Amino acid sequence: MPKTSTVVKKSRPAVRGVPFEIVTGRQARLYVPHRSRHVPASAWIDYNRPVPQEWKAIAQAKGFRIRRRIRNRLHVALECHSCGSLTAQRVFTLRTAQPRCGGCAETAMIAEARAAGLIFLRRDKVDHHYALYRAGCGHVVRRQAEFVSRMAAGKTDLCCDRCLIAREQAEARRQGWVRLRRDPNGNPNYRIYQHSCGQIQRAARVNLAWGQCKCQSCGGAWNAHPSFIYLVRIEIPGLGLHLLKMGFSKHPQKRFRHQLGLPRTARVDLVRTIPITSGHDACALEKAAHAQLRHLMPEVVVPAEVYAGVVNTKSEIYTPAAFAEIMRLMDVIEAAHPVVGASLPPAKPVRTRKPPRSA
Ligand SMILES: [Zn+2]
Ligand SMILES: [Zn+2]
Ligand SMILES: [Zn+2]
Repeated sequence: MPKTSTVVKKSRPAVRGVPFEIVTGRQARLYVPHRSRHVPASAWIDYNRPVPQEWKAIAQAKGFRIRRRIRNRLHVALECHSCGSLTAQRVFTLRTAQPRCGGCAETAMIAEARAAGLIFLRRDKVDHHYALYRAGCGHVVRRQAEFVSRMAAGKTDLCCDRCLIAREQAEARRQGWVRLRRDPNGNPNYRIYQHSCGQIQRAARVNLAWGQCKCQSCGGAWNAHPSFIYLVRIEIPGLGLHLLKMGFSKHPQKRFRHQLGLPRTARVDLVRTIPITSGHDACALEKAAHAQLRHLMPEVVVPAEVYAGVVNTKSEIYTPAAFAEIMRLMDVIEAAHPVVGASLPPAKPVRTRKPPRSA
């Protein structure tokens, strides 16, 4: 995934979705404003009348050339001076406003996606505020163009839904459970899990991830992991703060809110946990990951004064732009530290019969 940090953030034309449809079946692509999407492609034929000199002058002044008149007496095909694309506009729009170029808008949307670390695929056919993008993980995600703008600006991160499910499945497996589906009651913090004994029950994801979920059928609970490396997302809407915190915890507490002294309005999402067999290792690995992150992307480290008095910690707070890199670092840690046999309950000492003495 291209790092968002490497992209120089310069001011781009405002793109709030691309309100253009593309009419195909012509010699050149013709961008048509979204509001005219009901007009059939066959209607955008040439309207063979001369173009008044006055219109030509207005178009010239606004960065376009009138290629020809189209559809009816009210429309023109404007050729953009900077990209050469053709956009259908009403003469009224040309006269009274600054017409937008469909080609430039699309280019801006592609560039914005790239700045956000995504590949723009296409706009959503039904809701033009949404588009489909290929995320760094390879999955296709559907997001609002406005969300991608905030992502490009480093104000939010993208959590791919399919990757999230895969992580939750891995978390559950490590604790001897299978993640079946989301919560039928619609609580975003709960899932339906099946225990290795066959019992199916609803549990908070955070409890299950920390190994603090008890099976209602067999009573089996397992909390043998001495330590976890975790990533949480903290959002404080009132202050416009979106932060990522990676840490390690010997005594995993679901009550981050209290531990970190967060205000009541804060939203805390557990993004990921990795069990580490020893607390010493977890501490060392976490420190090394922070050092690497500071070295690779110094710009994603949030200065302490930004969250002073809001989040009760001294360091290890990052901007959403660090998301992909933190996940990558966590992948490396996870791959290097598989918790062997984690899906099994703690082994009881097995008594082996003494071999019969040979007489
Ligand atoms: Zn253009
Ligand atoms: Zn994914
Ligand atoms: Zn059970």
